[in-house]
Amino acid sequence: TFDVLVVGGGPAGASAAIYAARKGLRTGVVAERFGGQVLETQAIENFISVKETDGQKLAAGLEQHVRDYGVDIMNLQQAKSLTVRDNGLAEIHLAGGGVLKSRSVVISTGARWCEMNVPGEKEYRGHGVAYCPHCDGPLFKGKRVAVVGGGNSGVEAAIDLAGVVGHVTLLVRSKLRADAVLCERLAELPNVEVITGVQIEEVTGDHGKVNGLVYSDRADGEKHRIDVAGVFVQIGLLPNTDWLKGTLALSKNGEIEIDAKGQTSLPGVFAAGDCTTVPFKQIVIAIGEGAKASLAAFDHLIRSPAA
Ligand code: FAD
Repeated sequence: TFDVLVVGGGPAGASAAIYAARKGLRTGVVAERFGGQVLETQAIENFISVKETDGQKLAAGLEQHVRDYGVDIMNLQQAKSLTVRDNGLAEIHLAGGGVLKSRSVVISTGARWCEMNVPGEKEYRGHGVAYCPHCDGPLFKGKRVAVVGGGNSGVEAAIDLAGVVGHVTLLVRSKLRADAVLCERLAELPNVEVITGVQIEEVTGDHGKVNGLVYSDRADGEKHRIDVAGVFVQIGLLPNTDWLKGTLALSKNGEIEIDAKGQTSLPGVFAAGDCTTVPFKQIVIAIGEGAKASLAAFDHLIRSPAA
């Protein structure tokens, strides 16, 4: 039996594990893929105090730091369900068939960006195809970029990027669905063009880098091409919480509802990072949230009967 079982091995999970182990608690991490989204990231320039790093390096650093504390890392294992017994003991059932028991749980299973699923998107991921304006906006300083998506995140990204890049083309499938105040702000910007009623067809590139985007007009089917150095895909972020449906309170977007201490709707079960309702999904935020959830788990354990 663990004192703290962390489910998910991204920045939030690594931080939660280290904070728990430093309290002398029996700590385990079960992760489908240790490192998480960081493994898909090229340049990371906003991990404060480290001016520049890349995803592989940061993931290796997270793993080494966790291993230094003797945490039991169970990699390549998927959690399938969670049950909390009457005696307060939590059970995590694994897809492989095993069951892990713990006196408290920190869930940090992260999220994934919705993809356009068009040719060129995967090929140029990290080489012009981006999902996070806070992370990658400055890489396109002065250049022309496209943003795909007409919801709040698409319009927010267009407004954000307009202040950093040279020109933004916002491509929207039907019409803008963002809050009126955002649409008004967008309309005031001289370097943003909005094209509605489009179907994205392809991301094109040259020498390993994005150089354009092909879309068709949904009204007449005619194809058009725009020259851009970057494509920001803003069509949704899906939390990895399907396995928790019906077990604890999720928001309408499927994010785990947490309070200021990372407490979920189930006693002894905490959550941190991109899988939760925490606003803004970033590495530094996930790391802070992981630490917080683990300290809250410690608070819970010192008030619970000893195992
Ligand atoms: P994740 O990193 O998503 O980790 C989730 C973990 O849970 C993984 O180990 C996963 O395998 C595991 N998991 C999922 N489901 C299960 C399950 N059922 N059972 C067991 N394990 C499970 N942020 C920045 O601050 N700066 C950047 O430059 C930056 N660039 C980015 C670039 C890209 C391409 C992407 C995709 C994201 C980027 N981000 C960046 C965002 C950042 O990576 C995330 O905010 C951060 O990784 C969230 O950490 P997390 O620990 O909450 O979740």
